[in-house]
This record gives sequence, C-alpha cells and structure tokens, in this order.
Amino acid sequence: TSQPPSYPYAAPASEAWFERASAVIPGGVNSPVRAFRSVGGTPRFMASATGPYLTDVDGREYVDLVCSWGPMILGHQHPTVLEAVHEASRRGFSYGTPSENEVLLAEAIVNRVEPVEQVRLVSSGTEATMSALRLARGFTGRSVVVKFAGCYHGHVDALLAHAGSGVATFALPDSAGVPASSAGETIVLPYNDVRALEETFARRGDEVAAVITEAAPGNMGMVPPAPGFTAALRRTTREHGALLISDEVMTGFRASAAGWYGLEGPTVHGSPDLFTFGKVMGGGFPAAAFGGRRDVMAHLAPSGPVYQAGTLSGNPVATAAGLATLRGCTPAVYERLEQAAHAIADGVTAELSAVGVAHTIQWAGSMFSVFFREGPVLSYADAQGQDTAAFGRFFHSMLSQGVHLPPSAYECWFVSAAHDDAAVDRVLAALPAAARAASA
Ligand code: PLP
Repeated sequence: TSQPPSYPYAAPASEAWFERASAVIPGGVNSPVRAFRSVGGTPRFMASATGPYLTDVDGREYVDLVCSWGPMILGHQHPTVLEAVHEASRRGFSYGTPSENEVLLAEAIVNRVEPVEQVRLVSSGTEATMSALRLARGFTGRSVVVKFAGCYHGHVDALLAHAGSGVATFALPDSAGVPASSAGETIVLPYNDVRALEETFARRGDEVAAVITEAAPGNMGMVPPAPGFTAALRRTTREHGALLISDEVMTGFRASAAGWYGLEGPTVHGSPDLFTFGKVMGGGFPAAAFGGRRDVMAHLAPSGPVYQAGTLSGNPVATAAGLATLRGCTPAVYERLEQAAHAIADGVTAELSAVGVAHTIQWAGSMFSVFFREGPVLSYADAQGQDTAAFGRFFHSMLSQGVHLPPSAYECWFVSAAHDDAAVDRVLAALPAAARAASA
C-alpha cells in the first residue's frame, strides 16, 4: 500500500483565492456546501482534474470522492468524453435550434429507463424538478405537492421545505425568500413512514397534484426506501389521482444503468409517472431532463398548455458529453464502481470500528454514505443524530492526507470507474489516522 501524502494544513494559494472570491461572490462560493462551513477551514480551489484525482491551486493532489457531486462517473477527462466534447465544440457552441445530439441523448435515456416514453432536456436538476412539478400541477389541475423531510430536489421554492444537502448541512428549517403561499402548498412528511402518507392522503388526497421523492434519497446521507415504501407511494398516489415523481437526478444512471428504477422498479407494482434526471447524463456539463408518461408529457408546450423553455436547453456540447458518458457506462463500469466503493467502505468500517467510533454505512447500488452514528438510519430525524464534529475531524485528516471527501456529514461519497487500485489504496492508507482523529 502506498503511503498517503501528508500536506500542511495551510493552503496559501486556496486561502488567497478564497479571500478574493469572498469579496465578489457571496460566501466566496457559487453553491453553499462548497464553502466548508460545516467542517470549518478553507475550501480548496481546484486547478485541474484527471481520472480519480483533483489538483488544487497549491499544486496538491487529492483522490476525489466528490466527483462533482455525482456526474463524473467515468472519472475526469475520460478520453472518449473529452473527444466528444472537442468534436462537438468544433461544430459550434449553441444553435438555439433543434440538433441531432438532443435526439440521441433523449433516446439514450428512454432506452435505459423503461417507463420513460418521452423526455424534455433542461440545464440543471433544479430546472428538471421545477418543471416536473409544474407539469404535474398542470396535468392534474391540483396544486398541493407532497415531499419528504431530508429529500433535496434543488432550490425550487416549493421544494425547499425540510430539504437535505446544503439545507441539511446548515440546519435551515426553510429558506428565507420562499413565500408562505408557495411553501403552504407543500406538505412535508417523514421518509419511510407509510402511515403518515396514508393519513395525509385520507385527509387531503383530492388536493394533491404529486408526490415527489428521491428514488433512493442521497441528500441526507444515503437512506434507501424501506421494503414496501416505494410500492406504498405508487399505490396511494394512484388511488387518489396524484402523480408520482421519482427524482433520479443523483441515482439516475449511477445506482445502476437504469438508476434506482433498475434496481427496485420491477418489484413495485406500477412505475412512477414522471422522472427527473441530471448529473451523470450531462457528463460534467449542464444537462438534465424530466420525462415519463407520454400522455402526461403531451401537456407541455408547444403541444400542450404547460409552459417550459430554455435558451441553452439541449446544448450541443453538453448533450455530446452526456451521450458519450452514458455510452461509456458499460457493465464493467458498474462493476468497478461497486468494487471501489466496497473496498473504501470496508476500510472505513474496519478503521472506525478499531477506534470505537459509532458509524453505519448505507447503500443504494454502488452509492453509499457513512453516518457517524449507529444505524439503521431510516429518516432525516435519524440522520440528524450524527456526530458531525467527529465527521469534521475525520474530513480534515483525510484532506491533509490527500483525500477530498464531501465537506458535510449529510452527503454521499462518490467514486468513479477511474478509481483504480492505486487511488483506492491511497484512501485506505489515509483511514487509520482519520479514524484516530474522529475518535479524539
Ligand atoms: N435532485 C436531486 C436528487 C439532487 O441530488 C440534486 C442536486 O444535488 C438536484 C435535484 C438539483 O440538481 P442541480 O444541482 O443540478 O440543480
């Protein structure tokens, strides 16, 4: 096993950039969780990325266990994706007209996720969930939406109530600036609680346009649906004429080739009506999608009355990157994700157990997260019982040894198919010291 590098804590170039950034960008970052607020310290500014590694502006290399929060499933600068991006960009950056790659990417999605008959391409996961929600409201003529505490669906007004990810990290109950009228149409229920779901539908079922859920929630840490929960969502929504929206922005094309649906879907009686996708399908570029039943999608403009649009939707470079990434996701890729993820998770368990740090690791396919508490974790309330201070010490020890974890205890750890044995060994070699730091 190669020894991990040991870096001094100070990162002078990142610190200088962070100071400059903080003058002109609120909090110095363009997405809150990047700011390291929950673990403390200075975020590392990256200069480049190759395969499983990031290199920061101080010239230090890190094994990347963030993978851009999911998209980089093949690793950074994968040769065939890079070539597709070069090739597409030589033919122009944006046309504002239909183009071939949009069709190929839409077909790639429809071919992989069986219940999806049509998709509309957008530029971010937030846009996808926002649009799916509008479509569900337009289709049903109802306005109430049901979501689950700890599920994050992007920063859509109606969905920012009790959300996970950065909202969990900062323990914000809600966001300022979301009108009460908007949040008032949202019902938030505890995850994995069939009784709460059925009671709510018994009272207000005829007002509910849609239930939206993360297919396997990864934004409060990984909390997969308990057996029967997804089936209960399908049964209850159908009984009351509401749509079921499965948010696969994170799990799509990652948990399996057909996302979480590919793992659980066939065991549930009936498919979700709508899906949302992002991350992997853009290959690191801004591309996302929502799609599902043809009769529902027919309500979108220009065929139907639900308006939705985008200057950069279906961008030719982003769609080329996404298509090359999906084509690159072979069975061998999923096998490698699983091997690398399990090797890392086994190491975490061994080292944290050796020093008596309470923890549990939960999975959805090859996706996993480490909770710094005993399991099982079935809901957001459970996830909030973690020792986040212990995670912070663990995180900084890993960082100083050249391993970049997500800077929050509420996030999944992401690997790529480029995480070879050398990269995994570097993670494993860093774990004993990090576990000791966590136990301190
Ligand atoms: N839905 C889920 C499940 C997500 O994990 C995310 C982002 O982390 C989003 C939606 C929002 O996607 P984006 O950040 O591209 O707007």
